[in-house]
Amino acid sequence: MPAKLIMGTEVREKILEEITAEVAQIKKKHGVVPGLVTILVGQNPASISYVTLKVQTAHRVGFKEVQDSQSEKISEKELLALIDKYNKDDTINGILVQLPLPKHIDEKKVLNAIDPDKDVDGFHPVNVGRLMIGGKEVKYPPCTPAGIQELIVRSGVETSGAEVVVVGRSNIVGKPIANMMLQKGPGANSTVTVVHTRTKNMDLHCKRADILIVAAGVPGLVKPEWIKPGACVIDVGVNRVGEKVSEKTGKKIAILKGDVDFDAAKEIAGWITPVPGGVGPMTITMLMKNTLKSLKFKLGIA
Ligand code: NAP
Repeated sequence: MPAKLIMGTEVREKILEEITAEVAQIKKKHGVVPGLVTILVGQNPASISYVTLKVQTAHRVGFKEVQDSQSEKISEKELLALIDKYNKDDTINGILVQLPLPKHIDEKKVLNAIDPDKDVDGFHPVNVGRLMIGGKEVKYPPCTPAGIQELIVRSGVETSGAEVVVVGRSNIVGKPIANMMLQKGPGANSTVTVVHTRTKNMDLHCKRADILIVAAGVPGLVKPEWIKPGACVIDVGVNRVGEKVSEKTGKKIAILKGDVDFDAAKEIAGWITPVPGGVGPMTITMLMKNTLKSLKFKLGIA
Protein backbone atom coordinates (compact mmCIF):
# COMPACT_ATOMS: atom_id res chain seq x y z
CA MET A 1 0.00 0.00 0.00
CA PRO A 2 1.44 3.43 -0.87
CA ALA A 3 2.62 5.63 1.98
CA LYS A 4 0.43 8.24 3.64
CA LEU A 5 1.51 11.67 2.45
CA ILE A 6 2.54 14.11 5.16
CA MET A 7 1.52 17.45 3.69
CA GLY A 8 3.26 20.41 5.26
CA THR A 9 0.95 22.69 3.30
CA GLU A 10 -2.06 21.31 5.24
CA VAL A 11 -0.35 21.21 8.65
CA ARG A 12 0.81 24.82 8.10
CA GLU A 13 -2.81 25.97 7.61
CA LYS A 14 -3.88 24.24 10.82
CA ILE A 15 -1.03 25.73 12.89
CA LEU A 16 -1.48 29.23 11.44
CA GLU A 17 -5.18 29.06 12.36
CA GLU A 18 -4.23 28.04 15.91
CA ILE A 19 -1.74 30.92 16.13
CA THR A 20 -4.27 33.45 14.74
CA ALA A 21 -6.84 32.39 17.35
CA GLU A 22 -4.30 32.64 20.18
CA VAL A 23 -3.08 36.06 19.02
CA ALA A 24 -6.68 37.34 18.98
CA GLN A 25 -7.25 36.00 22.51
CA ILE A 26 -4.05 37.59 23.86
CA LYS A 27 -4.92 40.88 22.19
CA LYS A 28 -8.35 40.85 23.86
CA LYS A 29 -7.02 39.95 27.29
CA HIS A 30 -3.65 41.76 27.40
CA GLY A 31 -4.01 44.44 24.70
CA VAL A 32 -0.81 43.41 22.88
CA VAL A 33 0.18 41.38 19.82
CA PRO A 34 3.50 39.69 19.01
CA GLY A 35 5.99 41.97 17.25
CA LEU A 36 8.43 40.60 14.68
CA VAL A 37 11.14 42.59 12.94
CA THR A 38 12.81 41.29 9.80
CA ILE A 39 16.08 42.99 8.93
CA LEU A 40 17.00 42.72 5.27
CA VAL A 41 20.40 43.99 4.14
CA GLY A 42 20.80 44.58 0.39
CA GLN A 43 18.68 43.37 -2.52
CA ASN A 44 19.40 39.64 -2.86
CA PRO A 45 16.30 38.40 -4.82
CA ALA A 46 16.05 35.12 -2.88
CA SER A 47 16.29 37.00 0.44
CA ILE A 48 13.61 39.46 -0.71
CA SER A 49 11.23 36.63 -1.56
CA TYR A 50 11.84 34.86 1.81
CA VAL A 51 11.32 38.10 3.70
CA THR A 52 8.14 38.90 1.73
CA LEU A 53 6.72 35.50 2.65
CA LYS A 54 7.61 36.00 6.33
CA VAL A 55 6.00 39.45 6.35
CA GLN A 56 2.82 38.16 4.65
CA THR A 57 2.54 35.28 7.11
CA ALA A 58 3.10 37.57 10.12
CA HIS A 59 0.33 39.90 8.90
CA ARG A 60 -1.98 36.96 8.30
CA VAL A 61 -1.72 35.77 11.92
CA GLY A 62 -2.19 39.28 13.33
CA PHE A 63 1.35 40.17 14.38
CA LYS A 64 2.89 43.61 14.33
CA GLU A 65 5.44 43.25 11.52
CA VAL A 66 8.31 45.60 10.98
CA GLN A 67 10.28 45.15 7.81
CA ASP A 68 13.56 46.99 8.16
CA SER A 69 15.37 47.14 4.81
CA GLN A 70 18.92 48.44 4.90
CA SER A 71 21.40 49.35 2.19
CA GLU A 72 24.09 46.76 1.48
CA LYS A 73 26.54 49.51 2.40
CA ILE A 74 25.46 49.52 6.05
CA SER A 75 28.49 49.07 8.30
CA GLU A 76 28.77 46.27 10.84
CA LYS A 77 28.72 48.86 13.62
CA GLU A 78 25.48 50.40 12.30
CA LEU A 79 23.84 46.97 11.97
CA LEU A 80 24.86 46.07 15.53
CA ALA A 81 23.37 49.38 16.72
CA LEU A 82 20.12 48.56 14.89
CA ILE A 83 19.92 45.18 16.61
CA ASP A 84 20.57 46.86 19.93
CA LYS A 85 17.64 49.20 19.21
CA TYR A 86 15.28 46.28 18.60
CA ASN A 87 16.69 44.37 21.59
CA LYS A 88 15.50 47.29 23.73
CA ASP A 89 12.16 47.78 21.91
CA ASP A 90 9.37 46.46 24.14
CA THR A 91 6.95 46.00 21.22
CA ILE A 92 9.33 43.62 19.43
CA ASN A 93 9.35 39.97 20.55
CA GLY A 94 11.30 38.43 17.69
CA ILE A 95 14.30 39.66 15.69
CA LEU A 96 15.23 38.06 12.45
CA VAL A 97 18.27 38.95 10.35
CA GLN A 98 17.90 37.57 6.84
CA LEU A 99 21.07 35.78 5.70
CA PRO A 100 23.36 35.98 3.82
CA LEU A 101 24.84 39.32 4.87
CA PRO A 102 27.33 41.29 2.70
CA LYS A 103 30.94 40.07 3.01
CA HIS A 104 32.17 43.06 5.05
CA ILE A 105 29.84 42.06 7.91
CA ASP A 106 30.64 39.25 10.35
CA GLU A 107 27.42 37.17 10.35
CA LYS A 108 28.28 35.37 13.56
CA LYS A 109 28.88 38.63 15.41
CA VAL A 110 25.54 39.99 14.21
CA LEU A 111 23.51 36.88 15.10
CA ASN A 112 25.18 36.68 18.51
CA ALA A 113 24.18 40.31 19.19
CA ILE A 114 20.47 39.41 19.15
CA ASP A 115 18.99 39.12 22.63
CA PRO A 116 18.63 35.32 23.10
CA ASP A 117 15.11 35.95 24.42
CA LYS A 118 14.20 37.51 21.04
CA ASP A 119 16.17 35.00 18.93
CA VAL A 120 13.11 33.32 17.39
CA ASP A 121 15.30 31.58 14.79
CA GLY A 122 16.90 29.68 17.67
CA PHE A 123 20.49 29.95 16.38
CA HIS A 124 22.03 31.98 19.22
CA PRO A 125 24.53 29.85 21.21
CA VAL A 126 22.38 30.37 24.32
CA ASN A 127 19.38 28.83 22.56
CA VAL A 128 21.50 26.03 21.09
CA GLY A 129 22.57 25.29 24.68
CA ARG A 130 18.98 25.42 25.93
CA LEU A 131 17.99 22.97 23.18
CA MET A 132 20.77 20.61 24.23
CA ILE A 133 19.62 20.65 27.86
CA GLY A 134 16.04 20.02 26.73
CA GLY A 135 12.74 20.03 28.62
CA LYS A 136 11.58 23.34 30.07
CA GLU A 137 14.96 24.96 29.25
CA VAL A 138 14.04 25.05 25.54
CA LYS A 139 12.70 28.41 24.45
CA TYR A 140 13.01 28.57 20.68
CA PRO A 141 13.72 25.33 18.83
CA PRO A 142 15.19 26.16 15.40
CA CYS A 143 12.37 26.45 12.89
CA THR A 144 13.03 23.71 10.32
CA PRO A 145 13.74 20.97 12.93
CA ALA A 146 10.74 22.15 14.95
CA GLY A 147 8.62 21.84 11.79
CA ILE A 148 9.93 18.33 11.17
CA GLN A 149 9.04 17.23 14.72
CA GLU A 150 5.60 18.81 14.41
CA LEU A 151 4.94 16.89 11.14
CA ILE A 152 5.97 13.60 12.74
CA VAL A 153 3.89 14.13 15.87
CA ARG A 154 0.78 15.42 14.07
CA SER A 155 0.91 12.40 11.73
CA GLY A 156 0.54 10.11 14.74
CA VAL A 157 3.92 8.42 14.19
CA GLU A 158 5.26 6.82 17.40
CA THR A 159 8.58 8.39 18.38
CA SER A 160 9.13 6.79 21.76
CA GLY A 161 11.64 3.95 21.38
CA ALA A 162 11.74 4.51 17.61
CA GLU A 163 15.01 4.16 15.73
CA VAL A 164 15.57 7.58 14.17
CA VAL A 165 18.28 7.97 11.54
CA VAL A 166 19.22 11.50 10.49
CA VAL A 167 21.18 11.95 7.26
CA GLY A 168 23.23 15.15 7.58
CA ARG A 169 24.86 16.93 10.51
CA SER A 170 24.42 20.64 9.73
CA ASN A 171 23.86 23.14 12.53
CA ILE A 172 20.51 24.20 11.08
CA VAL A 173 18.89 20.81 10.46
CA GLY A 174 20.80 17.58 11.18
CA LYS A 175 22.32 18.27 14.59
CA PRO A 176 19.32 20.04 16.14
CA ILE A 177 16.70 17.53 14.94
CA ALA A 178 18.89 14.64 16.17
CA ASN A 179 19.16 16.36 19.54
CA MET A 180 15.42 17.05 19.71
CA MET A 181 14.41 13.46 18.90
CA LEU A 182 16.60 11.99 21.65
CA GLN A 183 15.31 14.26 24.41
CA LYS A 184 13.21 12.84 27.20
CA GLY A 185 9.59 13.79 26.58
CA PRO A 186 6.64 13.65 24.19
CA GLY A 187 7.39 13.67 20.47
CA ALA A 188 10.89 12.40 21.22
CA ASN A 189 12.38 9.59 23.41
CA SER A 190 13.90 8.09 20.25
CA THR A 191 17.16 6.24 19.70
CA VAL A 192 19.09 8.42 17.31
CA THR A 193 21.84 7.80 14.77
CA VAL A 194 23.35 10.58 12.66
CA VAL A 195 25.06 9.73 9.38
CA HIS A 196 27.18 11.95 7.10
CA THR A 197 29.77 11.81 4.32
CA ARG A 198 32.26 9.86 6.44
CA THR A 199 29.76 7.22 7.55
CA LYS A 200 30.48 3.68 6.46
CA ASN A 201 27.59 1.57 5.13
CA MET A 202 25.07 4.39 5.23
CA ASP A 203 22.47 2.14 3.62
CA LEU A 204 22.61 -0.29 6.58
CA HIS A 205 21.94 2.54 9.06
CA CYS A 206 19.05 3.88 6.97
CA LYS A 207 17.50 0.40 6.67
CA ARG A 208 17.14 0.25 10.48
CA ALA A 209 15.21 3.52 10.67
CA ASP A 210 11.62 3.64 11.85
CA ILE A 211 11.88 7.37 11.18
CA LEU A 212 14.33 8.47 8.48
CA ILE A 213 15.08 12.20 8.33
CA VAL A 214 17.13 13.19 5.30
CA ALA A 215 18.83 16.59 5.09
CA ALA A 216 21.84 16.23 2.80
CA GLY A 217 21.08 18.41 -0.21
CA VAL A 218 21.82 15.59 -2.68
CA PRO A 219 18.94 14.77 -5.04
CA GLY A 220 17.88 11.13 -4.91
CA LEU A 221 20.58 10.21 -2.36
CA VAL A 222 18.33 7.79 -0.45
CA LYS A 223 17.43 4.78 -2.54
CA PRO A 224 14.14 2.92 -2.09
CA GLU A 225 15.97 -0.24 -0.97
CA TRP A 226 17.42 1.72 2.00
CA ILE A 227 13.94 2.25 3.42
CA LYS A 228 12.44 -0.09 6.00
CA PRO A 229 8.90 -1.08 4.95
CA GLY A 230 6.39 1.08 6.83
CA ALA A 231 8.98 3.68 7.95
CA CYS A 232 8.24 7.39 8.24
CA VAL A 233 10.41 9.26 5.73
CA ILE A 234 10.96 12.99 6.17
CA ASP A 235 12.71 14.50 3.16
CA VAL A 236 14.17 17.90 4.03
CA GLY A 237 16.22 18.26 0.85
CA VAL A 238 15.34 21.02 -1.59
CA ASN A 239 17.33 20.64 -4.79
CA ARG A 240 16.84 22.68 -7.96
CA VAL A 241 17.18 20.18 -10.78
CA GLY A 242 15.89 22.27 -13.69
CA GLU A 243 13.26 24.77 -14.79
CA LYS A 244 9.73 24.56 -16.15
CA VAL A 245 6.98 26.96 -17.14
CA SER A 246 4.29 27.37 -14.49
CA GLU A 247 0.80 26.44 -15.72
CA LYS A 248 -0.67 29.10 -13.41
CA THR A 249 1.53 32.11 -14.20
CA GLY A 250 3.26 31.19 -17.44
CA LYS A 251 6.55 32.15 -15.78
CA LYS A 252 9.66 29.98 -15.49
CA ILE A 253 9.90 28.22 -12.13
CA ALA A 254 12.44 25.85 -10.61
CA ILE A 255 11.87 22.11 -10.66
CA LEU A 256 12.52 20.95 -7.09
CA LYS A 257 13.49 17.47 -5.96
CA GLY A 258 14.17 16.07 -2.54
CA ASP A 259 16.99 13.85 -1.28
CA VAL A 260 14.80 10.74 -1.51
CA ASP A 261 13.67 8.93 -4.66
CA PHE A 262 10.05 9.84 -3.89
CA ASP A 263 8.16 7.81 -6.52
CA ALA A 264 9.80 4.53 -5.53
CA ALA A 265 10.04 5.33 -1.79
CA LYS A 266 6.32 6.02 -1.42
CA GLU A 267 5.59 2.40 -2.35
CA ILE A 268 7.67 1.16 0.61
CA ALA A 269 7.36 3.80 3.36
CA GLY A 270 4.42 4.08 5.74
CA TRP A 271 4.50 7.90 5.69
CA ILE A 272 6.44 10.28 3.46
CA THR A 273 6.81 14.01 2.88
CA PRO A 274 6.77 15.25 -0.73
CA VAL A 275 9.12 17.93 -2.11
CA PRO A 276 7.82 20.55 -2.50
CA GLY A 277 4.90 20.76 -0.05
CA GLY A 278 6.33 18.68 2.82
CA VAL A 279 8.86 20.19 5.23
CA GLY A 280 9.29 23.47 3.30
CA PRO A 281 6.07 25.23 4.41
CA MET A 282 6.80 24.43 8.06
CA THR A 283 9.84 26.69 8.58
CA ILE A 284 8.07 30.07 8.46
CA THR A 285 5.13 28.56 10.35
CA MET A 286 7.40 27.63 13.25
CA LEU A 287 8.97 31.08 13.15
CA MET A 288 5.51 32.48 13.84
CA LYS A 289 5.04 29.97 16.65
CA ASN A 290 8.36 30.98 18.24
CA THR A 291 7.47 34.68 18.01
CA LEU A 292 4.13 34.07 19.69
CA LYS A 293 5.95 32.05 22.35
CA SER A 294 8.32 34.98 22.96
CA LEU A 295 5.40 37.27 23.78
CA LYS A 296 3.86 34.56 25.99
CA PHE A 297 7.14 34.23 27.94
CA LYS A 298 7.12 37.99 28.45
CA LEU A 299 3.52 37.95 29.66
CA GLY A 300 4.24 34.94 31.90
CA ILE A 301 1.61 32.78 30.17
CA ALA A 302 3.87 30.37 28.22
P1 NAP B 1 24.41 21.36 4.61
O1 NAP B 1 24.80 22.38 5.60
O2 NAP B 1 25.03 21.37 3.26
O3 NAP B 1 24.66 19.92 5.27
C1 NAP B 1 24.46 18.75 4.54
C2 NAP B 1 24.79 17.57 5.41
O4 NAP B 1 24.54 16.40 4.65
C3 NAP B 1 26.26 17.52 5.85
O5 NAP B 1 26.36 17.13 7.19
C4 NAP B 1 26.87 16.48 4.92
O6 NAP B 1 27.87 15.70 5.54
C5 NAP B 1 25.68 15.57 4.65
N1 NAP B 1 25.82 14.96 3.31
C6 NAP B 1 25.97 15.59 2.13
N2 NAP B 1 26.10 14.68 1.15
C7 NAP B 1 26.06 13.47 1.73
C8 NAP B 1 26.18 12.14 1.25
N3 NAP B 1 26.39 11.88 -0.05
N4 NAP B 1 26.11 11.14 2.13
C9 NAP B 1 25.92 11.40 3.45
N5 NAP B 1 25.80 12.62 3.97
C10 NAP B 1 25.88 13.64 3.12
O7 NAP B 1 22.84 21.37 4.32
P2 NAP B 1 21.58 21.82 5.24
O8 NAP B 1 21.61 23.27 5.38
O9 NAP B 1 21.45 20.94 6.42
O10 NAP B 1 20.42 21.47 4.21
C11 NAP B 1 20.21 20.16 3.74
C12 NAP B 1 19.09 20.16 2.70
O11 NAP B 1 17.89 20.60 3.32
C13 NAP B 1 19.33 21.13 1.54
O12 NAP B 1 18.76 20.59 0.36
C14 NAP B 1 18.54 22.36 1.94
O13 NAP B 1 18.11 23.12 0.82
C15 NAP B 1 17.38 21.73 2.66
N6 NAP B 1 16.75 22.61 3.65
C16 NAP B 1 15.41 22.78 3.58
C17 NAP B 1 14.78 23.59 4.50
C18 NAP B 1 13.29 23.77 4.41
O14 NAP B 1 12.64 23.06 3.70
N7 NAP B 1 12.69 24.68 5.10
C19 NAP B 1 15.49 24.23 5.49
C20 NAP B 1 16.87 24.01 5.57
C21 NAP B 1 17.50 23.18 4.65
P3 NAP B 1 29.31 16.29 6.02
O15 NAP B 1 29.00 17.05 7.28
O16 NAP B 1 30.12 15.10 6.26
O17 NAP B 1 29.78 17.19 4.91
